[in-house]
Amino acid sequence: MSSSTLLSRRDLAFLLHDWLDVGRLTERPRYAEHSRETFDAVLDLAAQVAAERFAPHNRAADATEPSFDGQRVRTLPQVKAALEVFAGTGLLAATMDESVGGMQLPHAVAAACFAWFQAANVATAAYPFLTLGNANLLLAHGSAEQIDTWVRPMVEGRFFGTMCLSEPQAGSSLADITTRAEPQDDGTYRLVGTKMWISGGEHDLAENIVHLVLARIPGGPPGVKGISLFIVPKVLLGAGGALGPRNDVVLVGLNHKLGYRGTTNTLLNFGEGVHRPYGRPGAVGYLVGEPHQGLAQMFHMMNEARIGVGAAATALGYTGYLKSVAYARQRPQGRPAADKDPTAPQVPIVAHADVRRMLLAQKSYVEGALALILYCGRLLDEEKTAPAEADRGRAHLLLDLLTPIAKSWPSQWCLAANDLAIQVHGGYGYTRDYDVEQHWRDNRLNPIHEGTHGIQALDLLGRKVTMRDGAGLELLLETIRATVTRAWKAEGEAAELAGRLGAAVDRIAVVTRRLHGAGDPELALANASVYLEAVGHVVIAWMWLEQLLAVEALGSPDGPDADFLAGKRQAARYFFRYELPRTGPQFDLLDSLDRTTLDTRESWF
Ligand SMILES: Cc1cc2nc3c(=O)[nH]c(=O)nc-3n(C[C@H](O)[C@H](O)[C@H](O)COP(=O)(O)OP(=O)(O)OC[C@H]3O[C@@H](n4cnc5c(N)ncnc54)[C@H](O)[C@@H]3O)c2cc1C
Repeated sequence: MSSSTLLSRRDLAFLLHDWLDVGRLTERPRYAEHSRETFDAVLDLAAQVAAERFAPHNRAADATEPSFDGQRVRTLPQVKAALEVFAGTGLLAATMDESVGGMQLPHAVAAACFAWFQAANVATAAYPFLTLGNANLLLAHGSAEQIDTWVRPMVEGRFFGTMCLSEPQAGSSLADITTRAEPQDDGTYRLVGTKMWISGGEHDLAENIVHLVLARIPGGPPGVKGISLFIVPKVLLGAGGALGPRNDVVLVGLNHKLGYRGTTNTLLNFGEGVHRPYGRPGAVGYLVGEPHQGLAQMFHMMNEARIGVGAAATALGYTGYLKSVAYARQRPQGRPAADKDPTAPQVPIVAHADVRRMLLAQKSYVEGALALILYCGRLLDEEKTAPAEADRGRAHLLLDLLTPIAKSWPSQWCLAANDLAIQVHGGYGYTRDYDVEQHWRDNRLNPIHEGTHGIQALDLLGRKVTMRDGAGLELLLETIRATVTRAWKAEGEAAELAGRLGAAVDRIAVVTRRLHGAGDPELALANASVYLEAVGHVVIAWMWLEQLLAVEALGSPDGPDADFLAGKRQAARYFFRYELPRTGPQFDLLDSLDRTTLDTRESWF
């Protein structure tokens, strides 16, 4: 697998074992059945299935979008075949409890497995990952009966799941959703409304589709406090779970997208009256948990989904990077700048410093992002299984703070990596003969869905850094400073980089106080995206210093690993020399409480 152009197996082993030391998790009861060998075996399985079943139809599924003839949605047969193999691996339930058929794998290991599928074919992988988010939400908030009825068939790969939040008039502002859920005498609800952008909302890939729908019960409070969560299956179930009548959920049409084309994206009408389950119009729905708790429950899935979006962005950036390295090694063009002899053989473009700059930039983005995603997975494992309650609480708090960064940073910078991958390919990169243009188009979704870049910025600066009197931010800064201290002690290059990271961390503390100390929330949040981007870059610099320390701990082995470790050092240097300094002007702007955007009048555009 070392020569794969999807992901680097060596990098995953480095991050999981040499850095995050996931093997130690097997000392905890939840993971006691596992060992380094079982972790590696499941990673190998993921890599193999992704390469053999997902990658081969990635371009075909992009070129031949799902189609709707007014009756049925059709997808390429390879999609269904791949998903059947995926279901057979049991990976959907990778992190779930054994009691529901799960493997009880650590989240960090599962995230690494899933990244193989996202790198190979992000559109086909979206179906099981949506289903996974749906199932995890029901495991957390559903009743035992709901889990038995809906989660089991999802884990078996027979039913797929969706999340139905957005409406045509309510995207970022979920407080404004209008879908209604009328209570019925038998304890069920009838839903009426329209949901927009629903991924996997209709297809021919599974026996049933389990929609998780946000809707309002009439008489409830306005805004987000009056939103409840419902299970609304496409097909209702009869006795013993047998498929029964069609529910009143209909596909209005498919959206035709820039990328992620293999994933159906739908406009759905609930309760239009096209189907009349049990003789009446209205989509039959089952309330999850208590009324009016829908958004809080959905956040359970959204946080997971947001890290999943960051992971998808990372995987797309990673495969684009590896493909551009492979291309740069074999594309002859030009001669070294110092070579004036036109008869001398051409060199492969990887020999040119500017091409190496583009490759190093990509490497520093995608490997930095992958480190952050796996670190978040490790925090989830701490949150779930750390022996001390205080450690579980700290992991929860840190993860909460890091979630908008883990969603947005890879979505911005691994997209930038895809842009550079196209550039490395020159004109060929702009054609459909190479994969990199598709990776860019696919990746362009990631700063948009699951809360746009701007919404993540508001979440970080408006909510996360102030929550619990700033305890989350304090914890992040303290955790980064602990790395800085270790790097000081390590001396040499790590100590030099530590000084720069320490200074950047101090700026986060000062700038955050200044923004919130101004006493004007509108002004404080006016440049929230700049704040998100600056803090994100500091967090990734931290990930690189952590990696450098892990490299130094491995000493100086000979053989191919020497190159791998030297590459890590160089990418760390690159990030600190070329990228971290970008944050200086960003912090200056924030510190000046700049009003340019606030003072701009609409009529000036
Ligand atoms: C391919 C695709 C798949 C999707 N899948 C799903 C799905 O499965 N389920 C689902 O429920 N939804 C899904 N979505 C919807 C997605 O989550 C929304 O598109 C997203 O939340 C943005 O909403 P919007 O499109 O209405 O944009 P808007 O909310 O109209 O935003 C437009 C712009 O305004 C900015 N903006 C909006 N409000 C503010 C504010 N208060 N402050 C500052 N800036 C603001 C945004 O950042 C954005 O740049 C999907 C979308 C796409 C494109």
